[in-house]
Amino acid sequence: MNHEIVTYSIQQLSKLLTKRELSSVEITKAYLEQIEQRDKMIGAYLTVCADEAILQAERIDKRRLDGEELSVLSGIAIGIKDNICTKGIRTTCGSKMLENFIPPYDAHVVKMLNKAGTVLLGKQNLDEFGMGSTTEHSAFGCTKNPHDISRIPGGSSGGGAAAVAANMAACSIGSDTGGSVRFPAAMCGMVGIKPTYGAISRNGLVAFASSLDQIGVMTKTVMDAAMLLSVIIGKDPADATSVVHPDVDFLSGLHQGVSGMKIALPEAYFGKSISPAVKNAVLDAAKKLQQMGARVEMVHLASTDAALSAYYIISSAECSSNLARFDGVRYGYRATGYVDMEDLYIKSRNEGFGDEVKRRVMLGTFVLSEGHYEAYYHRAMQAKAAVCREFADVFSQYDLILTPTAPMTAWQFGKKNSPTEIYSSDLCTVPVNLAGLPAISLPCGWDADGMPIGMQLIGKAFDEKTLLRAGYVWEQEGSR
Ligand code: GLN
Repeated sequence: MNHEIVTYSIQQLSKLLTKRELSSVEITKAYLEQIEQRDKMIGAYLTVCADEAILQAERIDKRRLDGEELSVLSGIAIGIKDNICTKGIRTTCGSKMLENFIPPYDAHVVKMLNKAGTVLLGKQNLDEFGMGSTTEHSAFGCTKNPHDISRIPGGSSGGGAAAVAANMAACSIGSDTGGSVRFPAAMCGMVGIKPTYGAISRNGLVAFASSLDQIGVMTKTVMDAAMLLSVIIGKDPADATSVVHPDVDFLSGLHQGVSGMKIALPEAYFGKSISPAVKNAVLDAAKKLQQMGARVEMVHLASTDAALSAYYIISSAECSSNLARFDGVRYGYRATGYVDMEDLYIKSRNEGFGDEVKRRVMLGTFVLSEGHYEAYYHRAMQAKAAVCREFADVFSQYDLILTPTAPMTAWQFGKKNSPTEIYSSDLCTVPVNLAGLPAISLPCGWDADGMPIGMQLIGKAFDEKTLLRAGYVWEQEGSR
């Protein structure tokens, strides 16, 4: 029985819980057993909260037995990326800098999940502070792709995607600054959605690039993603950029199909850098969507290449300022053997941060410096404005945009070593963050090595409903 439980979707688990055919303790124990058996190999978790999880599950089971009306997520066991603060539970951001940091408060998203009655299995691995696409930049070792452990799981929320793919959580909560939910979801064959900027509070998410960061979810099915989002989306007074979402009733329209929908296929996302297997799978999906009643047409999005450079300039600029707080005085790691204050800063930051974080902080400081601000930061902001304008133009005529999620499938560890080569794999995901739009990554086939391929649907701001609706019918009919 236990082996099966961990393969179920949230929807299936929720039904069994409601009918009292399964208890939350049984579910939680099944996942903990799976983690025990598989995570030594995969490395998805940095902290497993076994005892607390069972206690949480017992409490939910008791409330259910007492006849209390519970939410659909009550008793569902989940994992959370380790850059989202959990009260009393170590939150490392994958960094030596925060190796022993125990937050005194819960992130807003964690509060919402607790309120809904989910059970926290543990905190999941990531590239340090969310900077990376492979989870190789974690200070605590890399996570492996469950489909082939010689390959990357994607990143930066690689722990979360791998955990769901290896049945070590019913779902995972991640963060997406330039693709970190969608990219690993694609590499691991899962569903990943990044909602509109401002839809989910960032309070308690350790900031990487505040104007781009957004919390998202990784699940086995589109329905599961819809169920989760309905619970965690909402305005939070503690995050001034969060807003009231105009339509969170994601479940009601889910079955309506794509008939009559207009889907744009931007040429720039199907260029030379896209591998033939990925390109064919996504173009095939476009054909199927057309057969299912959608109108699919090619469009031009000329700013796509500039978006990648603009993203790396803007995100690095913001990270250099956000990470200034890690100074060895107020938070985290403090070096020993310093001679004065400046030496304390330098040694603590030098020893506490890994190479990738240092590279971004240096790049960010450079592009913000007086002599280079105009040439880099200012121009990047102009490119960002162009990206937004172009998306707005397309969305004045289309409901959705279809692209690959990544130019290629998961590669083998050690195959790509140059930072810029890895940065270029974010080509398809970063424009979405620059424009603050919602997007979903859906499995759409396999390459010759048996690795999953992901396609991305991009929607209008606050129109997660259409994304989920198209994703749902794709999953039910298209992807078979
Ligand atoms: N791969 C991108 C980067 O390294 C995206 C990271 C993210 O979304 N957190 O910046």
